[in-house]
Amino acid sequence: MFLLNENMVKARKEHSCRGCGKVYPKGSQMLNAMYMDRYGKYVSVYWCATCLEYMSRHGLTIAGEWELGELLSFDRAGWQDVNLEIIDRKQ
Ligand SMILES: [Zn+2]
Repeated sequence: MFLLNENMVKARKEHSCRGCGKVYPKGSQMLNAMYMDRYGKYVSVYWCATCLEYMSRHGLTIAGEWELGELLSFDRAGWQDVNLEIIDRKQ
């Protein structure tokens, strides 16, 4: 998929994150990314704060092909460490 645009948003309804596959409630801060797939169709995808932080630390980007939940299945322990840090930072 080709990344066209990205925006931080406050989710107006619940969305599942592409990277971890978890469902985040309405009101969550998420990155909304717009892609074009190989058929020329627009695809809107959401990314959570934990996945974004994980990716920036590991030199990964939201561009390209990501299956739903792929990031979490690829390094569950590493993802959970980042998630705990983010939760701590909010408290
Ligand atoms: Zn995520």
